[in-house]
Amino acid sequence: MKMNHATRGFHEANTVTAVAAAPNGEIFDLEGYAAVGMAGNRLQVLTPDDTIDMPHGSELMLLPDRHPIVFNFDTLDFEVLTRNPFEPGEPILAVGAFNSPGHVNRLSCAYDDSSASSLLPLFSYGAAGFLDQGFRSAAICVDKEPRQDLRQMPLHRVKNGVDQMRNKYPSNRLIRHIEHCALSYGCPAGKNFFLKRYEAPLPTAQACNARCLGCISLQPDPVLSACQNRIDFTPSPGEIAELALEHITRVKHAVVSFGQGCEGDPLTAFDVIEPAVRQIRDTTDKGSVNMNTNASMPDKIERLCRSGLDAIRVSMNSTQESHYTAYFRPRSYSFQDVLASIDRARTGDAFVAVNYLNCPGFTDTEDEFNALHRLIKTHDINMIQWRNLNYDPKAYLKKMEQVQPLSAPLGMGTIIERLKKDFPDLIHGYFNPPKERYRKAGL
Ligand code: SF4
Repeated sequence: MKMNHATRGFHEANTVTAVAAAPNGEIFDLEGYAAVGMAGNRLQVLTPDDTIDMPHGSELMLLPDRHPIVFNFDTLDFEVLTRNPFEPGEPILAVGAFNSPGHVNRLSCAYDDSSASSLLPLFSYGAAGFLDQGFRSAAICVDKEPRQDLRQMPLHRVKNGVDQMRNKYPSNRLIRHIEHCALSYGCPAGKNFFLKRYEAPLPTAQACNARCLGCISLQPDPVLSACQNRIDFTPSPGEIAELALEHITRVKHAVVSFGQGCEGDPLTAFDVIEPAVRQIRDTTDKGSVNMNTNASMPDKIERLCRSGLDAIRVSMNSTQESHYTAYFRPRSYSFQDVLASIDRARTGDAFVAVNYLNCPGFTDTEDEFNALHRLIKTHDINMIQWRNLNYDPKAYLKKMEQVQPLSAPLGMGTIIERLKKDFPDLIHGYFNPPKERYRKAGL
């Protein structure tokens, strides 16, 4: 098989067994074959050392029209399996892991897509296998906080919370919208508001000034479907402040966040957000007011920080302008505006996290790592939130390769460890931290 790989020294005892799926979705392990992960063109046999027990809340995803790449212990080589070796004639399909929040993909699942005609749905596809009666994920735990642990979010308690808020705020349209997100989409942020836990969402924006390839709220690509609909009204500053203050006054170390999956970019709704932030801060200095954003408008970021915004989380698939532009496809701003927003926020003493959309084989390339290293150093970044890019990995890598040939992958584990060594104060995680955590650290 032409892709670059190492095959020496592998035998069944020190590897993880391959898994695959039948067309009906049944998932099974393939004795005699090892599971394989990929980072760009690099194939890697999965071992117990570079995998973890599949995290609770993760899902195994069948990859339509894609066949698994496995390692065959008879031939001691990689191969594409199109038929089930144990059920002659039965087609088999590749399986990937959609790892639960707090876990970043070390490797994508390895598959052949030569017979595929359309993109994969908007999920991430981590490498997975089977070992000792359980599924394993080639993932790295970056955040242990149970903020989105579904076991701690029983539906009956969410419904109780919805009833209480209906009685207390019968005319707040934004709380009604969050109700729908929590009960229909199962949105963990929406549920947490009604459960009085951690972080509450403040979706506000119907528009966006970017056209991300993998946008989950408004999909430009007819082949792909957005995961949820965008909010179809603009809440008033009063409705926003009411929801935020309800959460801040009830939850210890509360976080409230603009910029959710069910909206465009919050900076496009600045005119209602800025007065809402002022209302919140005129009432209390408790809680952390955060904005998840593409950070495209430095002036507005500066004014929001002056009004009391505590933190921004800046989404990036790449810290290299050309690769960023190829994915975000900005309409009315440039990567330089994003960097200027980060500097204004830091000057305004706001906490800055990068929402780093990771895809092994691109994120861990030498060029991308060096650019990330420069960004952290030059722009005083406080945190990297390691997230898995929800987009067809092979299609994405092709797009990034079109911008510029990709350098060799260093390994996700390697780049995270190197950053920890080079930037000891840099926070690594997944969730927006409360200010009590980063102010204490002097950030
Ligand atoms: S910035 Fe967010 S809302 Fe805008 S296109 Fe990208 S993913 Fe969609």
